[in-house]
Amino acid sequence: MCLFCSIVNGEIPSNKILENDDFIAFHDINPKAPIHILIIPKIHFDSLQTVNPEIMAKMTPFIQEVAKLVGVDKTGYRVISNVGEDGGQEVKHLHIHLLGGTKLHFGHFHDADPKNNL
Ligand code: 5GP
Ligand code: ZN
Repeated sequence: MCLFCSIVNGEIPSNKILENDDFIAFHDINPKAPIHILIIPKIHFDSLQTVNPEIMAKMTPFIQEVAKLVGVDKTGYRVISNVGEDGGQEVKHLHIHLLGGTKLHFGHFHDADPKNNL
């Protein structure tokens, strides 16, 4: 069983923010910003590449609700989903990173040197 499936079924504890029938939002164990939350579907999908559109459609209002709950809906935030090997995905259960609580100074295209990618 994958790590995030173990969080869904409660075998591994997590610091939960919000939960409904389909999703859980919990704090990332190694935060990269004052607010760093992971949003996952309860059903296992390996990544964004294999998730079905019905789940993704329901995920949008859930993310918006999480953003409101943690108070970044007005100030802004960034969502990231790493997919597969080249995307740097470490946990192979679809998750959306929600980062905020400060002006984010990393991971923005402004800071990226395309020479490193092209
Ligand atoms: P990825 O690199 O796959 O996009 O991100 C995986 C994220 O999961 C990382 O930010 C990492 O800190 C987080 N993470 C890994 N293990 C755990 C855990 O057991 N609990 C929580 N809350 N987060 C975890
Ligand atoms: Zn899983």
